[in-house]
Amino acid sequence: MTASIDATFWHPFTQMKGWKAEAAPMIESGEGVWLTDTEGRRYLDGTSSLWCNVHGHRHPEIDAAVRSQLDRVAHTTTLGLSHSPAEELARRLIQIAPRPFPLERGRGALSRVFYSDSGSTAVEVALKMAFQYWQQAPDACPSRTAFVSLEDAYHGDTVGSVSVGGIDLFHSLYRPLLFDSYKIAPGDGEGLADVLFHHGDEIAAVVVEPAVQGAAGIKLQPPGFLRTARELCDRHGVFLICDEVATGFGRTGRMFACEHEGVVPDFLCIGKGLSGGYLPLAATLTTERVYEGFLGEHEDLRTFFHGHTYTANPLACAAALASLDVFERERTLERLGLKIALFGQLLRSLVEPLPHVAEVRRLGFMCGIELAADPARGLAYQPGLRMGHEVTLEARSRGAIVRPLGDVVVLMPPLSITPDELEELVEITADSIAAATEQAATGETYLRAA
Ligand SMILES: *Cc1c(COP(=O)(O)O)cnc(C)c1O
Repeated sequence: MTASIDATFWHPFTQMKGWKAEAAPMIESGEGVWLTDTEGRRYLDGTSSLWCNVHGHRHPEIDAAVRSQLDRVAHTTTLGLSHSPAEELARRLIQIAPRPFPLERGRGALSRVFYSDSGSTAVEVALKMAFQYWQQAPDACPSRTAFVSLEDAYHGDTVGSVSVGGIDLFHSLYRPLLFDSYKIAPGDGEGLADVLFHHGDEIAAVVVEPAVQGAAGIKLQPPGFLRTARELCDRHGVFLICDEVATGFGRTGRMFACEHEGVVPDFLCIGKGLSGGYLPLAATLTTERVYEGFLGEHEDLRTFFHGHTYTANPLACAAALASLDVFERERTLERLGLKIALFGQLLRSLVEPLPHVAEVRRLGFMCGIELAADPARGLAYQPGLRMGHEVTLEARSRGAIVRPLGDVVVLMPPLSITPDELEELVEITADSIAAATEQAATGETYLRAA
């Protein structure tokens, strides 16, 4: 018995007016990179179920790990209790986290793991920890209450993470609810130097999505910027928070994007791919120095007063441990290099030549294809045409799920995708872009039957 779509379920990031008419597929099952709906149609999951699936759906090893945990216990609190999946996962995460080069003496390694359950809360935790750290001994510097963040940043949808966000479409309305943060242009090392020079001792932390700003439309930062940000933070005694919720777990070709520049942040926020894309789980990794700033007697009130009911859910931790095992056993990262090269070739031959493709931006397996009405003259499509969305409808009818950010078509397949499937995904995407943009060029109307 399958329920049909009505609007009782209010969907995320969705204008519910007209939603039913879009006849979204009801997904019933998945296998590898494929999803099957209740009508039996198959779709290639070109967005990794919104950037989180890593090794494919129903991976036997991860399935077995979750089942085996389910036979023990599905959930227990971690307030006053602990469990071995969370303990072991914390140690494993520290082992794979970006590490300081031996030369970089004095820079603390990431050594402590604080769990939560979404990317937004992982960032929220980093912001609150950074803020609180400066308010209390041993390093108290109570003037450090502000944050620096990047224009076009996306760090999640809770009010703290929105405060350091910079996507006007999602964020500007909420301005009155938010705390201020200094904004600099992504990649602008001089701008950052300037803010830190003038306001350094007001700043608790600088927050960045390292290397790639995902929700901004897969925008790449110039190489060297992250390194510069790290050096400037050190010079001014400011923490660096790296939000690797999107970029983590192999998405850019390395386990973490920070590794491209040999940078170790003071806070590393991870989510999405952490559980292999199976269950909601996130974590904020930090250093011994930060951790020690919270130690004290109970009455000192240095405790980090933050936690969620499902913090470190055992099923999610079991999935995450199994996902890390799969990374090792299947040598996921080693085998990714060839697929990344193929991905680049396919995009160059099939997508870049299309007349309405303005730019293809990519790092590893994170790709954004920017569409424009007239790329040569820099003319965008009328927003009302919803060209990015039209492309996703075309792709759906051809058997692939892709999701746009405005007029940027995002491709972010699971790392486990085979070369043949990758080719199929890029072909479908190219055909869909051609079909949708040709229709617009010939002035056809865009009404679709329900
Ligand atoms: C998706 C995302 C988040 C938010 O994660 P949720 O799990 O959706 O709360 C935060 N930061 C970045 C960079 C993201 O891509």
